[in-house]
Amino acid sequence: MKIRHLVIVLGDQLDLEASAFDGLDPAQDRVWMAEVAEESTHVPSSQPRIALFLSAMRHFAQALRDRRWPLDYTRLDDADNAGTLAGELHRALARVKPQGLVMTAPGDWRVLQSIRGAAAAASLPLEIRDDRHFFSTVREFAEHAKGRKQLRLEYWYRALRQKHGVLMDGDAPAGGQWNFDADNRESFGKQGPSDLRAPLRFVPDAHTQEVLDLVKTRFADHPGRLDSFGWPVTREQALQALHDFITHRLPLFGRYEDALWAGEPWLYHSQLSAALNLKLLHPRETVQAAEAAWRAGQAPIEAVEGFIRQILGWREYVRGIYWTQMPEYLERNALDAREPLPAFFWTGTTDMACLRDALTQTLTHGYAHHIQRLMVTGLYLLLLGVRPQEAHQWYLSVYVDAVEWVELPNTLGMSQYGDGGIMASKPYIASGKYIQRMGNFCKGCRYDPGESTGPTACPYTTLYWDFLMRHEAMLAGNPRMGMQVRNLARLAQDKREAIATQAQALRDAG
Ligand SMILES: Cc1cc2nc3c(=O)[nH]c(=O)nc-3n(C[C@H](O)[C@H](O)[C@H](O)COP(=O)(O)OP(=O)(O)OC[C@H]3O[C@@H](n4cnc5c(N)ncnc54)[C@H](O)[C@@H]3O)c2cc1C
Ligand code: SF4
Repeated sequence: MKIRHLVIVLGDQLDLEASAFDGLDPAQDRVWMAEVAEESTHVPSSQPRIALFLSAMRHFAQALRDRRWPLDYTRLDDADNAGTLAGELHRALARVKPQGLVMTAPGDWRVLQSIRGAAAAASLPLEIRDDRHFFSTVREFAEHAKGRKQLRLEYWYRALRQKHGVLMDGDAPAGGQWNFDADNRESFGKQGPSDLRAPLRFVPDAHTQEVLDLVKTRFADHPGRLDSFGWPVTREQALQALHDFITHRLPLFGRYEDALWAGEPWLYHSQLSAALNLKLLHPRETVQAAEAAWRAGQAPIEAVEGFIRQILGWREYVRGIYWTQMPEYLERNALDAREPLPAFFWTGTTDMACLRDALTQTLTHGYAHHIQRLMVTGLYLLLLGVRPQEAHQWYLSVYVDAVEWVELPNTLGMSQYGDGGIMASKPYIASGKYIQRMGNFCKGCRYDPGESTGPTACPYTTLYWDFLMRHEAMLAGNPRMGMQVRNLARLAQDKREAIATQAQALRDAG
């Protein structure tokens, strides 16, 4: 019998309710999934990231088989695996001979091009359906962006809250304000975090163990480690992880959203990004669970609004930016940054205590929370003047939640200011003093955040002043940078020269 549709399911589309499955008829359609090396090698994907994708795909394949949906699945270690998505699809088309292809819109530009190319080469119709996983469509975002000189999160976020009735009391925002950011910037103080409870981690089952063994041998030279792998790889586990967060960490999420603490990788963050991005978890159920906790008096409004802003706000916003700006976005470099990525980003070997901690936990778990990504690793690369494309490749490689549609705008736009202000109204720059204020790293560091020159000068502080000097003319035109530019004007010429020399030495050291 002729196969009607080959239903394409990618490694980050693991949702049984996805639009690709609408109208699926097991008698005449077939689902297609493929593990291919290219997805782990087009950037040097970390071992935890590869393991998470492969394990979640294999568990999802099992869920499809349990439904008795016919499945064409290629494993990475299958002898004749073509190694690329397009190559594997080409082989599947020759084998299955479907009359057409159906899929939910892929998240990444590169993948869309490769699937379109394979369908065109086989002269087969490709039906791409909207991704219902998100609250908004890219068309809605494009409509919102039309005619605006500047795109800002806040207006988009408010519009989505109103449209979807999230945290609303009638027409008014719940709690009387749209935004509780001002309450969400505390550091821990000398005593450090209290009531920290270890998050739920999942012991690898047989499927995951098999994947861990495969990754250890096949990708032995890739960064990262697997000994503490415990990410949710099924929908059931993702729901348990959501429940664990809502019950134990959401109440303090907002207050300490921006805080740092040595040796504490998770703090009060949800660690749900990977499950969300693989579509094991739906943003709607995540947002609803948080709002329900507030309405039941189990979490304060500032925590709940802060958390919902990340998902309903930032996550939808960066997706809109990505799809309305690609593919040119990938090449943008507004600050003309040309330095290579420092080699120690792949090993964590550095004397900078804050950076060492962020890099080490990144390589160990494939995770760092937002302020570590933005104000520790990202800040260092921005101040050093690293090419945004190299920064992008690093972030896309190392994190378990890294998929390009969300990673690229965050890295190139928000963190590196490579888009010249589409994502952020000013470069996120700070000296070592900011890191000192937000955590406890500087006490255990051989550098001094108050010094910008000399043997104990904190590299962040040196590079901060050097960044201001290098970009003074551009920054002077930005009203939000006024105070920093005025402070720079007070710096004596000999100090400026000493800073520039020390910054160059840091760049030369790599
Ligand atoms: C340089 C850089 C690179 C990043 N790369 C990625 C990436 O590859 N994948 C990714 O999902 N996020 C990325 N982020 C955003 C954010 O740092 C992570 O989503 C977050 O740290 C994940 O941890 P969590 O689940 O504990 O988040 P929480 O702090 O608990 O936040 C809750 C959820 O909100 C969403 N969220 C929070 N901040 C953002 C944001 N800025 N953009 C989009 N969604 C957000 C995530 O889904 C997250 O799970 C990046 C940020 C920066 C600065
Ligand atoms: S002194 Fe500088 S490098 Fe050291 S921990 Fe503080 S901010 Fe980081």
